[in-house]
Formats: sequence, structure tokens, C-alpha cells
Amino acid sequence: MQKLCILGSTGSIGKSTLDVVRLHPEKFNVVSLAAHSSVELMLEQCLEFHPNTVVMVSTAHAEALKKQLREKNLVNIQVLAGAKALETLAEQDTTDTVMAAIVGASGLLATLAAVKAGKKVLLANKEALVTSGAIFIDAVKASGAQLLPIDSEHNAIFQCLPLGEQQQPGTCDLAAAGVSKILLTGSGGPFRTWPIASLNQVTPAQACAHPNWDMGRKISVDSATMMNKGLEFIEAKWLFNLEPDDIQVVLHPQSTIHSMVQYKDGSVLAQMGNPDMRTPIAHALSFPQRIDSGVAPLDFFTAKAFEFEAVDFVKYPNLKLAIDACKSGQGACTALNAANEIAVDAFLSETIKFTDIAKINETSVNKFVSEKVSSIEDVIALDRRVRVFAQSLILNAKH
Ligand code: NDP
Ligand code: MG
Repeated sequence: MQKLCILGSTGSIGKSTLDVVRLHPEKFNVVSLAAHSSVELMLEQCLEFHPNTVVMVSTAHAEALKKQLREKNLVNIQVLAGAKALETLAEQDTTDTVMAAIVGASGLLATLAAVKAGKKVLLANKEALVTSGAIFIDAVKASGAQLLPIDSEHNAIFQCLPLGEQQQPGTCDLAAAGVSKILLTGSGGPFRTWPIASLNQVTPAQACAHPNWDMGRKISVDSATMMNKGLEFIEAKWLFNLEPDDIQVVLHPQSTIHSMVQYKDGSVLAQMGNPDMRTPIAHALSFPQRIDSGVAPLDFFTAKAFEFEAVDFVKYPNLKLAIDACKSGQGACTALNAANEIAVDAFLSETIKFTDIAKINETSVNKFVSEKVSSIEDVIALDRRVRVFAQSLILNAKH
């Protein structure tokens, strides 16, 4: 039995993880769950999976959950509150696998705690890796934690690599393995065919309606701006020990190919499947074995055409910013991630326009690009300063 901790169990990835777990009660034991404030859903998950410990980051919501658990007579589930408790949960001895599926840099310290404790870490929370880069990967190397990518593109790349190279995130030598390029595919989001001039009219509801994937609101907006592909570009650099020039983004509107690995001899290996996160989740949960994920296989006879396009950086300035940040260094990546979280929040609450996201990101990166980041304390301090700065840009834009 794999003893599982799910950080962000009430989110899109968290729920998909529990969908896979539900199919295999003999393989997985849900030991702990964590969320921010979704009490009702957490209560349902407690009733079904009987974890030992639950964290609600919001203290008021932790109290509300405790009360509801008492009413249901579930008194042996321990409920902890606060962000620090996420770290306690992630490093508990009773856990061997941690699904890192909190959204944003809020998941950083808990994911890092799981890494430092040498757990098998299933990484969905790409922002944690983007914001801390080498510090994160060095912690993986030092502890010997097993890091498995959940992001569908990175999971696809992982599946297309030779077995020996897969095992060592951050230290693999893909050139020696004959890899000439990583082809990171992206759908282009819901506005790929919209004229650039109309993008300032985009509403949060339109941005969250992704054509192929059903995801949380933050990553949906990131997919629409292609910041998501930018974060994934940086994520790929760290996971597979690559240089930025080794990675090429390819638009593939159907999201059937989840990414590709090109080899020196001209071979290109692709991983395909219906766009459903239960596939990479099942892959990582059971690696190196394969288990049923509940996802139907691709039907090639009804499948739509496979199309490919080059990226238009004028339409997707956030992707260009991220690739440039990846080349510039950690200060730029930490700044870009923090500014983007603030800008996306402001867009979702209708404080700024869709097209303002890139402007706030660019101004923030330009200001903090040469900041040195060499410890986790530096990451947290820079992240905070950038958030304050990005907020001030939003306030100024309003007046
Ligand atoms: P959701 O918004 O659906 O879920 C976020 C989860 O994180 C919820 O459980 C939420 O709890 C919890 N959470 C939010 N803020 C905090 C906080 N401050 N402290 C603790 N927990 C918090 O996001 P997704 O599931 O879509 O995405 C999660 C991560 O996975 C992101 O990093 C995303 O980039 C990545 N990812 C997602 C994919 C997808 O298909 N959805 C694909 C690839 C990667 P609550 O419900 O209580 O608010
Ligand atoms: Mg992805």
C-alpha cells in the first residue's frame, strides 16, 4: 500500500488524484489531505477516504471542519490549521508519497518539505519549482527524493526518455542519451484564433473556458495567456537539466500529443492520449508499473486532425517573457511568477484587463531581473517584494 498525502486535495488535480485512487483501494491509502478553505468538499473526502490528518490553511475553516467532523462522529481525524501545518503534513513519517497540487507559490514550502524528507513527490505545483529553481533541484539531489512530473507535458517527456535518464530529475544528461530537442506542445488556449486587437475585451469566464482541459482558474488564465507554457518551459529546464535552447514550444491545438522528444537520429517520440490529467497522475502514482486511470484510450478513427503551428510571440507576450526570464536567471523567474500570480488574481476579480497581465509581468521582471537568489529565504523575500510592487502597479492602473 502506498501511503499518500494530497496537498490541494479539493482542487482540480487533487480531485483527479482521488478519482484514480478510488479505482485502486488495494494500492493506495490516503493518509492525509490538505486544502485552504473548501470545507464541504474536504468533509466529503474525509467521509470517503478516512485520512488520519487534515490541514485547512484557513483557521476559521479548520474550526468549521472540526465541528462538522464531530457532528458526523469522525473524531479520530486530526485537523490542523495554518500554512506551517502543510509542511508538517508533507514530511510525516506515516506518508511515503506526496501529491504537490496546491496552486501557486503557496505550495513551495510544503513541497520542499516533502522533498527534504525524501518522499516520492508527484509535482503538479510547477510554480514551486519555477520560483526556486536550483534551490529546489539541489534539495532533491541532497535528499534522494523521487520527483515525478504530473504536468502532462513533462510527464509526456519523461515517458519518451530512455529509462535510465528518467530517474534523475535535474541531473539527467539528455545530450548523452542522444536527445537533440524537447518539443513542448501547447494548445494556444481559447484565444488562438482571436485577433490580437480583441484580446483586451476578454472576460474571466472566457479565459477560464479552455477548449481541451478542465482545470483550476489560475492555470486556465495562464493557459489563455500562454504564461502556463512559459512556466512549463522553466519547469522543463529544471526537471530535465536542459539549456533554454534545447526546448522549443510547438502549438498543437488539439492537445492530443502532450509533448515530444527529438533524438539525434531523426526519431521523434510523442506521448499521446485524451486530454485528461488522470493519465499522468496514474502514471506517476504507479511508476514504473502501469495502472488503469479511468481514461478512455484515444480513438484514432474519430480523432481530429493533428495540427501544428509556430508560436506568435506578439499574441503571447507572456511566453516570450518567461523564455527570456529562463535565460536571465532565478531573480527574473521568481519575479515573473510572483507578478503573474498577482496579475491573474486581479484579472479574475475584474480589476485589470486580460492584456494588462503581460504589462504588469514585464514591468515587474524588468525591475527585479538582476536580484540574486541563493537561498529559500531569498526566494520568499523577493516573492514578497514583487507582490507588493505588482499590487502597486495595479493600484496605479486603476487611478
Ligand atoms: P485548483 O485551483 O483547482 O486547486 C488548488 C488547490 O490548492 C485547492 O485544493 C485549494 O484549496 C488549494 N489551495 C489554494 N491556495 C492555497 C493555499 N494558500 N494554501 C493551501 N492550499 C491552497 O488548482 P489546480 O488543481 O488546477 O492546480 C494545482 C496545481 O497543479 C497548480 O500549480 C497548477 O499549475 C498545476 N497543474 C494543474 C493542472 C490541471 O489540469 N488542473 C495541469 C498541470 C498542472 P481550496 O479548495 O480550499 O481553495
Ligand atoms: Mg501542462
